[in-house]
Amino acid sequence: MGKIKYIIIFLVVFALGLVLVKGVDRIIANSVIARDSEMLASKFQMYITESAEQILEMPRLDPGVTCTAELESLLKQKTFDSSFVRWLAIYKDNQVLCQSGVIPHDLTALKAHKVRENLSIAVASHNTQTSHELFLMRHMEGIDYIASITPLRPRYFVPVDCERCLEYKVSLDSDPYIEFGFDNFADEPVVYHVVQEQNPYYHATFELSGNRVFLEQYSQLGWRVSVATGIVLGLLACLVYWRWNNHQISLDSQIKRGIQRGEFIPYYQPIVDSSTGMPVGAEVLVRWLRHDNRMIPPNQFIPFAEARGHILPMTTSMLNKVINDIQLLGGQSPPLFFSINIVPAHLENDDFYHQLQEIVESGMLGHHRLSLEITERLPIKDMTLARQTLDKIYALGIDLKLDDAGTGYGCFSYVQHLGISTLKIDKMFVDTIGQSHNFNGKTLDAIISFANESKLHVIAEGVETVEQQGYLGELGVKLIQGYYYSKPLAAEDFFKFTLA
Ligand code: C2E
Ligand code: CA
Ligand code: CA
Repeated sequence: MGKIKYIIIFLVVFALGLVLVKGVDRIIANSVIARDSEMLASKFQMYITESAEQILEMPRLDPGVTCTAELESLLKQKTFDSSFVRWLAIYKDNQVLCQSGVIPHDLTALKAHKVRENLSIAVASHNTQTSHELFLMRHMEGIDYIASITPLRPRYFVPVDCERCLEYKVSLDSDPYIEFGFDNFADEPVVYHVVQEQNPYYHATFELSGNRVFLEQYSQLGWRVSVATGIVLGLLACLVYWRWNNHQISLDSQIKRGIQRGEFIPYYQPIVDSSTGMPVGAEVLVRWLRHDNRMIPPNQFIPFAEARGHILPMTTSMLNKVINDIQLLGGQSPPLFFSINIVPAHLENDDFYHQLQEIVESGMLGHHRLSLEITERLPIKDMTLARQTLDKIYALGIDLKLDDAGTGYGCFSYVQHLGISTLKIDKMFVDTIGQSHNFNGKTLDAIISFANESKLHVIAEGVETVEQQGYLGELGVKLIQGYYYSKPLAAEDFFKFTLA
Protein backbone atom coordinates (compact mmCIF):
# COMPACT_ATOMS: atom_id res chain seq x y z
CA MET A 1 0.00 0.00 0.00
CA GLY A 2 2.85 2.35 0.94
CA LYS A 3 4.59 1.87 -2.41
CA ILE A 4 1.37 2.33 -4.36
CA LYS A 5 0.83 5.69 -2.64
CA TYR A 6 4.25 6.86 -3.77
CA ILE A 7 3.61 5.65 -7.33
CA ILE A 8 0.26 7.49 -7.45
CA ILE A 9 1.80 10.69 -6.07
CA PHE A 10 4.64 10.45 -8.57
CA LEU A 11 2.32 9.87 -11.54
CA VAL A 12 -0.10 12.64 -10.58
CA VAL A 13 2.64 15.21 -10.05
CA PHE A 14 4.48 13.98 -13.17
CA ALA A 15 1.32 14.58 -15.21
CA LEU A 16 0.91 18.00 -13.59
CA GLY A 17 4.52 18.76 -14.55
CA LEU A 18 3.78 17.91 -18.19
CA VAL A 19 0.71 20.14 -18.19
CA LEU A 20 2.71 22.89 -16.54
CA VAL A 21 5.41 22.82 -19.22
CA LYS A 22 2.74 22.74 -21.94
CA GLY A 23 1.28 25.85 -20.33
CA VAL A 24 4.74 27.40 -20.26
CA ASP A 25 5.16 26.54 -23.99
CA ARG A 26 2.03 28.48 -24.72
CA ILE A 27 3.12 31.40 -22.58
CA ILE A 28 6.44 31.56 -24.45
CA ALA A 29 4.70 31.26 -27.84
CA ASN A 30 2.30 34.03 -26.85
CA SER A 31 5.09 36.30 -25.74
CA VAL A 32 6.98 35.70 -29.00
CA ILE A 33 3.87 36.53 -30.98
CA ALA A 34 3.30 39.64 -28.89
CA ARG A 35 6.87 40.78 -29.38
CA ASP A 36 6.74 40.14 -33.14
CA SER A 37 3.45 41.90 -33.66
CA GLU A 38 5.02 44.98 -32.08
CA MET A 39 7.91 44.48 -34.49
CA LEU A 40 5.49 44.21 -37.40
CA ALA A 41 3.86 47.47 -36.42
CA SER A 42 7.18 49.26 -36.05
CA LYS A 43 8.51 47.85 -39.34
CA PHE A 44 5.43 49.09 -41.11
CA GLN A 45 5.95 52.53 -39.67
CA MET A 46 9.62 52.44 -40.62
CA TYR A 47 8.87 51.36 -44.22
CA ILE A 48 6.30 54.09 -44.62
CA THR A 49 8.27 56.96 -43.05
CA GLU A 50 11.56 56.17 -44.78
CA SER A 51 9.92 55.64 -48.15
CA ALA A 52 7.88 58.83 -47.72
CA GLU A 53 11.06 60.78 -47.06
CA GLN A 54 12.56 59.35 -50.22
CA ILE A 55 9.73 60.23 -52.56
CA LEU A 56 9.26 63.65 -51.02
CA GLU A 57 12.85 64.37 -52.00
CA MET A 58 11.96 63.79 -55.66
CA PRO A 59 11.48 66.93 -57.76
CA ARG A 60 8.00 68.36 -58.07
CA LEU A 61 6.41 67.59 -61.43
CA ASP A 62 4.07 69.47 -63.72
CA PRO A 63 1.09 67.64 -65.19
CA GLY A 64 2.60 68.16 -68.60
CA VAL A 65 5.90 66.37 -67.84
CA THR A 66 7.20 63.74 -70.26
CA CYS A 67 9.36 60.72 -69.54
CA THR A 68 12.92 61.64 -70.40
CA ALA A 69 16.00 59.44 -70.02
CA GLU A 70 17.15 61.79 -67.32
CA LEU A 71 13.90 61.40 -65.37
CA GLU A 72 14.04 57.65 -65.79
CA SER A 73 17.55 57.45 -64.41
CA LEU A 74 16.53 59.66 -61.48
CA LEU A 75 13.77 57.16 -60.71
CA LYS A 76 16.26 54.27 -60.98
CA GLN A 77 18.77 56.05 -58.75
CA LYS A 78 16.13 56.68 -56.09
CA THR A 79 15.10 53.00 -56.11
CA PHE A 80 18.74 52.07 -55.78
CA ASP A 81 19.36 54.50 -52.91
CA SER A 82 16.33 53.75 -50.79
CA SER A 83 16.04 50.74 -48.56
CA PHE A 84 12.38 49.93 -49.00
CA VAL A 85 11.33 51.39 -52.32
CA ARG A 86 11.52 48.57 -54.87
CA TRP A 87 10.02 50.37 -57.84
CA LEU A 88 9.22 53.99 -58.50
CA ALA A 89 7.06 55.44 -61.23
CA ILE A 90 5.31 58.57 -62.41
CA TYR A 91 1.61 57.97 -62.62
CA LYS A 92 -0.97 60.03 -64.45
CA ASP A 93 -4.58 59.29 -65.34
CA ASN A 94 -4.21 55.69 -64.13
CA GLN A 95 -1.30 55.20 -66.49
CA VAL A 96 2.39 54.67 -65.77
CA LEU A 97 4.20 57.47 -67.52
CA CYS A 98 7.74 56.71 -66.56
CA GLN A 99 9.27 54.01 -64.32
CA SER A 100 12.45 52.80 -62.68
CA GLY A 101 12.21 49.38 -64.28
CA VAL A 102 9.77 47.34 -66.26
CA ILE A 103 8.21 45.14 -63.64
CA PRO A 104 4.54 44.25 -64.00
CA HIS A 105 2.35 45.96 -61.40
CA ASP A 106 -1.38 45.68 -61.43
CA LEU A 107 -2.55 49.13 -60.52
CA THR A 108 -6.10 48.81 -61.77
CA ALA A 109 -7.87 48.51 -58.44
CA LEU A 110 -5.76 50.55 -56.08
CA LYS A 111 -7.29 51.51 -52.77
CA ALA A 112 -5.54 54.57 -51.44
CA HIS A 113 -5.67 55.97 -47.96
CA LYS A 114 -4.46 59.50 -47.40
CA VAL A 115 -1.92 59.77 -44.61
CA ARG A 116 -1.07 63.37 -45.33
CA GLU A 117 -2.28 66.11 -47.63
CA ASN A 118 0.01 64.91 -50.42
CA LEU A 119 0.71 61.29 -49.38
CA SER A 120 -1.32 58.06 -49.55
CA ILE A 121 -0.76 54.46 -48.64
CA ALA A 122 -2.29 52.21 -51.27
CA VAL A 123 -2.95 48.53 -51.71
CA ALA A 124 -4.10 46.76 -54.81
CA SER A 125 -7.46 45.71 -53.43
CA HIS A 126 -7.83 42.40 -55.21
CA ASN A 127 -4.71 40.81 -53.79
CA THR A 128 -5.07 41.32 -50.10
CA GLN A 129 -4.58 37.65 -49.39
CA THR A 130 -1.56 35.47 -50.13
CA SER A 131 0.55 38.29 -51.40
CA HIS A 132 -0.14 41.93 -51.51
CA GLU A 133 1.67 44.87 -52.81
CA LEU A 134 2.01 47.97 -50.75
CA PHE A 135 2.35 51.33 -52.44
CA LEU A 136 3.08 54.81 -51.32
CA MET A 137 1.84 57.68 -53.47
CA ARG A 138 2.90 61.29 -53.56
CA HIS A 139 0.23 63.49 -55.06
CA MET A 140 0.99 66.59 -57.02
CA GLU A 141 -1.45 68.49 -59.17
CA GLY A 142 -2.83 66.03 -61.75
CA ILE A 143 0.18 63.74 -61.46
CA ASP A 144 1.61 61.32 -58.85
CA TYR A 145 4.73 59.48 -57.89
CA ILE A 146 3.95 55.89 -57.00
CA ALA A 147 6.41 53.67 -55.12
CA SER A 148 6.14 49.96 -54.48
CA ILE A 149 7.36 49.21 -50.98
CA THR A 150 8.97 46.02 -49.68
CA PRO A 151 6.17 43.83 -48.36
CA LEU A 152 6.06 42.87 -44.70
CA ARG A 153 6.88 39.23 -44.27
CA PRO A 154 6.27 37.47 -40.99
CA ARG A 155 8.75 34.77 -41.84
CA TYR A 156 11.49 37.27 -41.32
CA PHE A 157 10.66 36.82 -37.68
CA VAL A 158 11.19 33.75 -35.52
CA PRO A 159 11.07 30.80 -35.63
CA VAL A 160 13.22 30.17 -38.64
CA ASP A 161 12.22 26.66 -39.55
CA CYS A 162 8.51 27.05 -39.68
CA GLU A 163 7.58 28.16 -43.15
CA ARG A 164 3.81 28.13 -43.02
CA CYS A 165 3.09 28.92 -39.45
CA LEU A 166 2.77 32.69 -39.12
CA GLU A 167 0.48 35.13 -40.84
CA TYR A 168 -0.63 38.65 -40.31
CA LYS A 169 -3.31 41.13 -41.13
CA VAL A 170 -3.03 44.90 -41.14
CA SER A 171 -6.09 47.10 -41.22
CA LEU A 172 -5.97 50.82 -41.66
CA ASP A 173 -8.83 52.52 -39.98
CA SER A 174 -9.51 54.69 -42.97
CA ASP A 175 -11.88 55.73 -45.65
CA PRO A 176 -11.69 53.68 -47.77
CA TYR A 177 -11.03 50.92 -45.26
CA ILE A 178 -7.83 49.13 -46.19
CA GLU A 179 -6.95 45.67 -45.12
CA PHE A 180 -4.06 43.61 -46.33
CA GLY A 181 -2.01 40.79 -45.05
CA PHE A 182 -0.20 37.59 -45.51
CA ASP A 183 -2.42 34.55 -45.42
CA ASN A 184 0.01 31.75 -44.89
CA PHE A 185 -1.88 28.79 -43.47
CA ALA A 186 -5.28 27.21 -43.88
CA ASP A 187 -5.91 25.99 -40.33
CA GLU A 188 -7.05 28.01 -37.35
CA PRO A 189 -4.66 30.27 -35.48
CA VAL A 190 -3.90 29.05 -31.95
CA VAL A 191 -1.88 32.01 -30.72
CA TYR A 192 -2.28 35.59 -31.82
CA HIS A 193 -1.69 39.13 -30.74
CA VAL A 194 -3.16 42.43 -31.78
CA VAL A 195 -1.35 45.76 -31.68
CA GLN A 196 -3.03 49.11 -32.22
CA GLU A 197 -0.84 51.80 -33.61
CA GLN A 198 -1.87 55.39 -33.63
CA ASN A 199 0.34 58.09 -35.07
CA PRO A 200 -0.29 61.38 -36.86
CA TYR A 201 -0.41 59.58 -40.24
CA TYR A 202 -2.57 56.58 -39.66
CA HIS A 203 -4.47 54.50 -37.15
CA ALA A 204 -3.76 50.85 -37.81
CA THR A 205 -4.36 47.43 -36.29
CA PHE A 206 -1.75 44.72 -36.67
CA GLU A 207 -2.71 41.16 -35.94
CA LEU A 208 -0.09 38.44 -35.98
CA SER A 209 -1.19 34.83 -35.62
CA GLY A 210 0.50 31.47 -35.38
CA ASN A 211 -1.03 28.06 -35.96
CA ARG A 212 -0.40 24.69 -34.34
CA VAL A 213 2.86 24.26 -36.26
CA PHE A 214 4.07 27.50 -34.75
CA LEU A 215 3.13 26.35 -31.23
CA GLU A 216 4.86 23.04 -31.85
CA GLN A 217 8.13 24.85 -32.39
CA TYR A 218 8.00 25.50 -28.70
CA SER A 219 6.53 22.16 -27.63
CA GLN A 220 9.13 20.25 -29.64
CA LEU A 221 11.74 22.22 -27.91
CA GLY A 222 9.90 21.44 -24.70
CA TRP A 223 8.99 17.75 -24.66
CA ARG A 224 12.27 16.66 -23.16
CA VAL A 225 12.02 19.56 -20.78
CA SER A 226 8.42 18.50 -19.99
CA VAL A 227 9.43 14.96 -19.13
CA ALA A 228 12.41 16.13 -17.11
CA THR A 229 10.25 18.66 -15.24
CA GLY A 230 7.60 16.00 -14.62
CA ILE A 231 10.19 13.59 -13.22
CA VAL A 232 11.83 16.21 -11.01
CA LEU A 233 8.50 17.45 -9.64
CA GLY A 234 7.26 13.87 -9.19
CA LEU A 235 10.37 12.92 -7.21
CA LEU A 236 10.18 16.12 -5.18
CA ALA A 237 6.55 15.42 -4.30
CA CYS A 238 7.49 11.88 -3.19
CA LEU A 239 10.29 13.31 -1.06
CA VAL A 240 7.99 15.86 0.57
CA TYR A 241 5.39 13.16 1.19
CA TRP A 242 8.05 10.84 2.64
CA ARG A 243 9.28 13.54 5.02
CA TRP A 244 5.76 14.49 6.06
CA ASN A 245 4.90 10.83 6.59
CA ASN A 246 8.02 10.31 8.69
CA HIS A 247 7.14 13.36 10.75
CA GLN A 248 3.64 11.98 11.32
CA ILE A 249 5.02 8.58 12.24
CA SER A 250 7.54 10.12 14.56
CA LEU A 251 4.91 12.41 16.17
CA ASP A 252 2.77 9.31 16.56
CA SER A 253 5.50 7.37 18.31
CA GLN A 254 6.59 10.38 20.35
CA ILE A 255 3.04 10.78 21.69
CA LYS A 256 2.87 7.05 22.54
CA ARG A 257 6.20 7.28 24.34
CA GLY A 258 5.11 10.51 26.01
CA ILE A 259 2.03 8.77 27.41
CA GLN A 260 4.13 5.86 28.71
CA ARG A 261 6.59 8.25 30.34
CA GLY A 262 3.83 10.40 31.83
CA GLU A 263 4.85 13.51 29.92
CA PHE A 264 1.27 14.76 29.61
CA ILE A 265 0.60 16.77 32.72
CA PRO A 266 -2.40 18.72 33.95
CA TYR A 267 -2.49 22.50 34.32
CA TYR A 268 -5.36 24.05 36.18
CA GLN A 269 -7.18 27.22 35.24
CA PRO A 270 -9.23 28.55 38.16
CA ILE A 271 -12.95 29.14 37.76
CA VAL A 272 -13.96 31.91 40.16
CA ASP A 273 -17.32 33.02 41.50
CA SER A 274 -17.13 36.74 40.84
CA SER A 275 -19.73 37.55 43.49
CA THR A 276 -17.45 36.21 46.25
CA GLY A 277 -14.07 36.23 44.48
CA MET A 278 -13.65 32.60 45.60
CA PRO A 279 -12.43 29.80 43.31
CA VAL A 280 -15.07 27.11 42.89
CA GLY A 281 -13.24 24.80 40.51
CA ALA A 282 -10.77 24.49 37.67
CA GLU A 283 -10.59 23.42 34.11
CA VAL A 284 -7.89 20.78 33.66
CA LEU A 285 -5.82 21.62 30.58
CA VAL A 286 -3.22 19.24 29.30
CA ARG A 287 0.39 20.28 28.67
CA TRP A 288 3.07 18.15 27.07
CA LEU A 289 6.21 18.51 29.15
CA ARG A 290 8.86 16.93 26.93
CA HIS A 291 11.86 15.12 28.36
CA ASP A 292 13.98 18.09 27.23
CA ASN A 293 11.75 20.34 29.41
CA ARG A 294 10.02 21.95 26.42
CA MET A 295 6.37 22.69 27.12
CA ILE A 296 4.06 22.04 24.15
CA PRO A 297 0.60 23.65 24.14
CA PRO A 298 -2.42 21.41 23.42
CA ASN A 299 -3.36 22.85 20.03
CA GLN A 300 -0.11 21.40 18.66
CA PHE A 301 -0.95 17.80 19.50
CA ILE A 302 -4.59 17.42 20.62
CA PRO A 303 -6.12 17.34 17.10
CA PHE A 304 -3.48 14.81 16.02
CA ALA A 305 -3.93 12.76 19.18
CA GLU A 306 -7.70 12.76 18.63
CA ALA A 307 -7.33 11.65 15.01
CA ARG A 308 -4.84 8.86 15.87
CA GLY A 309 -6.76 7.47 18.82
CA HIS A 310 -4.28 8.60 21.51
CA ILE A 311 -6.68 10.86 23.33
CA LEU A 312 -8.20 8.13 25.55
CA PRO A 313 -4.91 6.88 27.07
CA MET A 314 -3.77 10.51 27.29
CA THR A 315 -6.84 11.48 29.33
CA THR A 316 -6.37 8.43 31.55
CA SER A 317 -2.73 9.25 32.22
CA MET A 318 -3.59 12.86 32.99
CA LEU A 319 -6.56 11.97 35.17
CA ASN A 320 -4.27 9.83 37.33
CA LYS A 321 -1.99 12.84 37.76
CA VAL A 322 -4.98 15.02 38.71
CA ILE A 323 -5.94 12.54 41.45
CA ASN A 324 -2.34 12.49 42.61
CA ASP A 325 -2.20 16.32 42.73
CA ILE A 326 -5.47 16.50 44.64
CA GLN A 327 -4.27 13.97 47.18
CA LEU A 328 -0.92 15.65 47.60
CA LEU A 329 -1.93 19.32 47.53
CA GLY A 330 -5.69 19.70 47.75
CA GLY A 331 -6.36 18.84 51.38
CA GLN A 332 -6.56 22.46 52.61
CA SER A 333 -8.41 23.91 49.63
CA PRO A 334 -12.14 24.65 49.70
CA PRO A 335 -14.33 22.10 47.86
CA LEU A 336 -13.61 22.35 44.16
CA PHE A 337 -14.70 20.69 40.93
CA PHE A 338 -12.08 19.60 38.41
CA SER A 339 -13.41 19.79 34.89
CA ILE A 340 -11.86 17.28 32.48
CA ASN A 341 -12.08 17.76 28.70
CA ILE A 342 -13.50 14.67 27.02
CA VAL A 343 -14.24 13.71 23.43
CA PRO A 344 -17.19 11.67 22.05
CA ALA A 345 -15.03 8.50 22.03
CA HIS A 346 -15.03 8.58 25.86
CA LEU A 347 -18.75 7.88 25.77
CA GLU A 348 -18.75 5.07 23.20
CA ASN A 349 -18.22 2.32 25.78
CA ASP A 350 -17.98 1.86 29.54
CA ASP A 351 -14.19 1.95 29.89
CA PHE A 352 -14.01 5.59 30.88
CA TYR A 353 -17.01 5.23 33.17
CA HIS A 354 -15.26 2.38 34.97
CA GLN A 355 -12.17 4.53 35.50
CA LEU A 356 -14.31 7.31 36.96
CA GLN A 357 -16.20 4.83 39.09
CA GLU A 358 -12.97 3.49 40.53
CA ILE A 359 -11.74 6.99 41.37
CA VAL A 360 -14.99 8.09 42.98
CA GLU A 361 -15.44 4.88 44.96
CA SER A 362 -11.85 4.92 46.17
CA GLY A 363 -12.53 8.20 48.00
CA MET A 364 -9.26 9.66 46.64
CA LEU A 365 -10.97 12.91 45.69
CA GLY A 366 -11.66 13.81 49.29
CA HIS A 367 -14.09 16.72 49.50
CA HIS A 368 -13.51 17.62 45.85
CA ARG A 369 -15.37 16.32 42.82
CA LEU A 370 -14.92 15.68 39.14
CA SER A 371 -16.76 17.27 36.27
CA LEU A 372 -16.56 16.69 32.50
CA GLU A 373 -16.72 19.05 29.56
CA ILE A 374 -17.37 18.13 25.96
CA THR A 375 -17.09 20.48 23.00
CA GLU A 376 -20.07 20.95 20.73
CA ARG A 377 -17.64 21.20 17.81
CA LEU A 378 -17.13 17.42 17.66
CA PRO A 379 -20.18 15.43 16.51
CA ILE A 380 -21.50 12.52 18.55
CA LYS A 381 -22.31 9.55 16.34
CA ASP A 382 -24.65 7.69 18.67
CA MET A 383 -26.53 10.03 20.99
CA THR A 384 -28.49 7.23 22.67
CA LEU A 385 -25.37 5.28 23.57
CA ALA A 386 -23.65 8.47 24.77
CA ARG A 387 -26.65 9.25 27.00
CA GLN A 388 -26.65 5.73 28.48
CA THR A 389 -22.98 6.06 29.41
CA LEU A 390 -23.55 9.55 30.76
CA ASP A 391 -26.44 8.47 32.99
CA LYS A 392 -24.08 6.02 34.73
CA ILE A 393 -21.52 8.80 35.09
CA TYR A 394 -24.13 11.21 36.47
CA ALA A 395 -25.00 8.58 39.08
CA LEU A 396 -21.42 8.96 40.35
CA GLY A 397 -22.09 12.64 41.06
CA ILE A 398 -20.17 13.86 38.01
CA ASP A 399 -21.85 16.42 35.77
CA LEU A 400 -21.29 17.42 32.12
CA LYS A 401 -20.59 20.91 30.80
CA LEU A 402 -20.98 21.97 27.19
CA ASP A 403 -17.76 23.58 25.99
CA ASP A 404 -17.51 26.24 23.30
CA ALA A 405 -21.30 26.76 23.40
CA GLY A 406 -22.58 28.67 20.38
CA THR A 407 -19.59 28.01 18.13
CA GLY A 408 -20.80 24.76 16.56
CA TYR A 409 -24.17 23.43 15.51
CA GLY A 410 -24.81 20.97 18.31
CA CYS A 411 -25.74 23.27 21.20
CA PHE A 412 -29.49 22.83 21.24
CA SER A 413 -29.46 19.12 20.46
CA TYR A 414 -26.68 18.38 22.99
CA VAL A 415 -28.58 20.21 25.71
CA GLN A 416 -31.75 18.31 24.81
CA HIS A 417 -30.23 14.83 24.64
CA LEU A 418 -27.22 14.73 26.93
CA GLY A 419 -28.39 16.16 30.23
CA ILE A 420 -25.94 19.08 30.19
CA SER A 421 -25.62 20.99 33.47
CA THR A 422 -23.64 24.05 32.36
CA LEU A 423 -22.88 26.06 29.23
CA LYS A 424 -19.34 27.33 28.81
CA ILE A 425 -19.43 30.49 26.73
CA ASP A 426 -16.54 30.70 24.33
CA LYS A 427 -13.98 33.52 24.46
CA MET A 428 -15.08 34.52 20.96
CA PHE A 429 -18.38 35.83 22.40
CA VAL A 430 -16.87 37.29 25.55
CA ASP A 431 -14.54 39.32 23.31
CA THR A 432 -17.55 41.13 21.83
CA ILE A 433 -18.27 42.89 25.12
CA GLY A 434 -17.68 46.59 24.60
CA GLN A 435 -17.79 46.30 20.80
CA SER A 436 -21.11 47.86 19.81
CA HIS A 437 -21.22 46.72 16.16
CA ASN A 438 -20.35 43.08 16.53
CA PHE A 439 -22.87 40.52 15.31
CA ASN A 440 -21.54 37.94 17.80
CA GLY A 441 -22.53 40.29 20.60
CA LYS A 442 -26.18 39.38 19.95
CA THR A 443 -25.22 35.69 20.17
CA LEU A 444 -23.69 36.25 23.62
CA ASP A 445 -26.98 37.65 24.90
CA ALA A 446 -28.92 34.88 23.15
CA ILE A 447 -26.79 32.11 24.73
CA ILE A 448 -27.23 33.61 28.18
CA SER A 449 -31.00 33.88 27.84
CA PHE A 450 -31.15 30.36 26.37
CA ALA A 451 -29.22 29.11 29.42
CA ASN A 452 -31.57 30.94 31.80
CA GLU A 453 -34.65 29.53 30.12
CA SER A 454 -33.19 26.02 30.13
CA LYS A 455 -32.13 26.36 33.80
CA LEU A 456 -28.47 25.78 32.94
CA HIS A 457 -25.50 27.17 34.78
CA VAL A 458 -23.15 29.38 32.80
CA ILE A 459 -19.37 29.73 32.89
CA ALA A 460 -17.78 32.51 30.81
CA GLU A 461 -14.43 31.58 29.36
CA GLY A 462 -11.61 33.85 28.23
CA VAL A 463 -12.58 36.77 30.46
CA GLU A 464 -9.67 39.18 30.46
CA THR A 465 -10.97 42.57 31.56
CA VAL A 466 -12.91 44.08 34.43
CA GLU A 467 -15.38 45.45 31.87
CA GLN A 468 -16.16 41.94 30.59
CA GLN A 469 -16.45 40.61 34.12
CA GLY A 470 -18.81 43.49 35.06
CA TYR A 471 -21.03 43.10 32.00
CA LEU A 472 -21.35 39.35 32.53
CA GLY A 473 -22.08 39.89 36.22
CA GLU A 474 -24.98 42.21 35.36
CA LEU A 475 -26.44 39.45 33.19
CA GLY A 476 -26.14 37.02 36.09
CA VAL A 477 -23.05 35.19 34.83
CA LYS A 478 -20.95 34.85 37.98
CA LEU A 479 -18.70 31.91 37.13
CA ILE A 480 -15.65 33.29 35.41
CA GLN A 481 -12.66 31.54 33.85
CA GLY A 482 -10.01 33.68 32.22
CA TYR A 483 -6.78 35.59 32.51
CA TYR A 484 -8.68 38.25 34.47
CA TYR A 485 -8.38 35.91 37.45
CA SER A 486 -5.61 33.60 36.34
CA LYS A 487 -3.91 31.78 33.50
CA PRO A 488 -3.77 27.98 33.64
CA LEU A 489 -1.38 27.10 36.50
CA ALA A 490 0.84 24.18 37.45
CA ALA A 491 -0.60 22.09 40.31
CA GLU A 492 1.32 23.73 43.18
CA ASP A 493 0.54 27.25 42.01
CA PHE A 494 -3.10 26.39 41.51
CA PHE A 495 -3.59 24.99 44.99
CA LYS A 496 -1.77 28.02 46.44
CA PHE A 497 -4.17 30.23 44.45
CA THR A 498 -7.16 28.48 46.03
CA LEU A 499 -5.78 29.18 49.50
CA ALA A 500 -5.02 32.84 48.96
P1 C2E B 1 -10.74 24.93 25.65
O1 C2E B 1 -11.29 23.68 26.23
O2 C2E B 1 -11.72 25.89 25.08
O3 C2E B 1 -9.87 25.61 26.76
C1 C2E B 1 -9.81 26.97 26.99
C2 C2E B 1 -8.60 27.53 26.34
O4 C2E B 1 -8.68 28.94 26.44
C3 C2E B 1 -7.29 27.14 27.04
O5 C2E B 1 -6.28 27.07 26.06
C4 C2E B 1 -7.06 28.32 27.94
O6 C2E B 1 -5.69 28.49 28.30
C5 C2E B 1 -7.54 29.45 27.07
N1 C2E B 1 -7.95 30.61 27.87
C6 C2E B 1 -8.64 30.62 28.99
N2 C2E B 1 -8.83 31.88 29.41
C7 C2E B 1 -8.22 32.69 28.52
C8 C2E B 1 -8.07 34.10 28.41
O7 C2E B 1 -8.53 34.89 29.23
N3 C2E B 1 -7.39 34.58 27.31
C9 C2E B 1 -6.88 33.74 26.39
N4 C2E B 1 -6.23 34.26 25.35
N5 C2E B 1 -7.00 32.38 26.47
C10 C2E B 1 -7.68 31.87 27.54
P2 C2E B 1 -5.30 25.85 26.01
O8 C2E B 1 -4.92 25.41 27.35
O9 C2E B 1 -4.22 26.23 25.04
O10 C2E B 1 -6.19 24.71 25.37
C11 C2E B 1 -6.61 24.77 24.07
C12 C2E B 1 -7.60 23.69 23.76
O11 C2E B 1 -6.99 22.40 23.79
C13 C2E B 1 -8.74 23.60 24.75
O12 C2E B 1 -9.69 24.58 24.49
C14 C2E B 1 -9.24 22.20 24.48
O13 C2E B 1 -10.07 22.20 23.33
C15 C2E B 1 -7.97 21.47 24.14
N6 C2E B 1 -7.55 20.72 25.34
C16 C2E B 1 -6.77 21.16 26.35
N7 C2E B 1 -6.57 20.15 27.24
C17 C2E B 1 -7.27 19.09 26.78
C18 C2E B 1 -7.47 17.76 27.25
O14 C2E B 1 -7.00 17.33 28.31
N8 C2E B 1 -8.26 16.95 26.48
C19 C2E B 1 -8.82 17.36 25.33
N9 C2E B 1 -9.57 16.51 24.64
N10 C2E B 1 -8.65 18.61 24.84
C20 C2E B 1 -7.88 19.46 25.58
CA1 CA C 1 -12.59 23.03 27.66
CA1 CA D 1 -13.83 26.40 25.51
